[in-house]
Amino acid sequence: DGFDATRRAWVEIDLDALRHNVQQIRQRLRSHCRVMAVVKADAYGHGALSAGRAALEAGAACLGVATLEEGAQLRESGLGCPIVVLGPIHTGAEVAAVEHWRLEPTLCTPRQVLVCAEHLSAPHPVHLKIDTGMTRLGAPWQDAVEFVRLAYRLPRLQVASVYSHLATADEPDSAALGEQHRRFERVLGELEAAGVRPECVHLANSAAALGDPGLHYDLVRVGVALYGLYPAPEFYGAAELRPVMQVRARVTQVREVPADTGVSYGHFWRTPTPSRLATVAIGYADGVPRRLSGQLQVLVHGRRAPQVGAITMDQIVIDCTHLSAVEEGDVVTLLGRDGNEAIGAADWADPLGTIAYEILCGFKHRLPRVVR
Ligand code: PLP
Repeated sequence: DGFDATRRAWVEIDLDALRHNVQQIRQRLRSHCRVMAVVKADAYGHGALSAGRAALEAGAACLGVATLEEGAQLRESGLGCPIVVLGPIHTGAEVAAVEHWRLEPTLCTPRQVLVCAEHLSAPHPVHLKIDTGMTRLGAPWQDAVEFVRLAYRLPRLQVASVYSHLATADEPDSAALGEQHRRFERVLGELEAAGVRPECVHLANSAAALGDPGLHYDLVRVGVALYGLYPAPEFYGAAELRPVMQVRARVTQVREVPADTGVSYGHFWRTPTPSRLATVAIGYADGVPRRLSGQLQVLVHGRRAPQVGAITMDQIVIDCTHLSAVEEGDVVTLLGRDGNEAIGAADWADPLGTIAYEILCGFKHRLPRVVR
């Protein structure tokens, strides 16, 4: 299989797929509209440095991270591109870190604007966030013009962009999306009337980047689509995205057992018939949610096999009664493709009542990332 035979389980990262996804998104954008590759949370579990590098190679203009620490790590690893910190900063120590690491912070309140201007030693790019209806971070849209003008009056703040974030972009027909768009337009109109013309304005996440071009403005901030996931089934036609992450593990033992054999902790499952079971070296400590016990399917030799009994910390058991030649060392696919079958992060998320983002971010560092 081409991978180190000592590995019991691993996350495969396909950077060609990531580059392809960036290109798919860029094809939908007008020529002046740039892409911010959102690589926060270790690139949604994909590895921020390699994912960020690949996105830049494919034409992304800058990277977005959530925290100063994430930005500093990328700088320390040698990336020279603009790095926008999407979370706000509010202390002098954070401002010093921003200058030291050449990170571009987000400012959300007049207080943050004043603290930043006071502690910067030289002019520095900052991004101003407006809340148009997400109700999380940003200056309220009603106060936005005053907020933005305050920042423009402070010579050490170079306003690199004015932006907002959408709450319901994955529901393209939602009233809330329309309302946020109208409020954003209104803020921009009022700024224009006040003689303020930000050099860059942006609103779109992946869903909006794959949706209405009226939401694209000068930049789109793309996370989940970069990693090959569609924000919702409505977007399947908008681009041809390829999943970047695959999760695999090896069979460590195969056994034949009689009918009515209890399997794994608690014996929550008993074999209905004489069965062939395989133990696979991955568990909840690797990021396979224990709550999926008995609901998970995996791929072996291009065929589906059900996981049975409780998912344990380091291991799962799969029922291979219907498969003839399963052996120790065989590779099992938990997420990704094997032959004609594929399992996506949404297949895990749906029964858990969560979203694919949480599944991707859930794979632990114990699983090596194998980049190809
Ligand atoms: N912009 C901001 C401010 C974000 O917080 C995020 C991530 O949640 C994104 C863009 C990217 O979102 P998505 O992964 O849906 O493209």
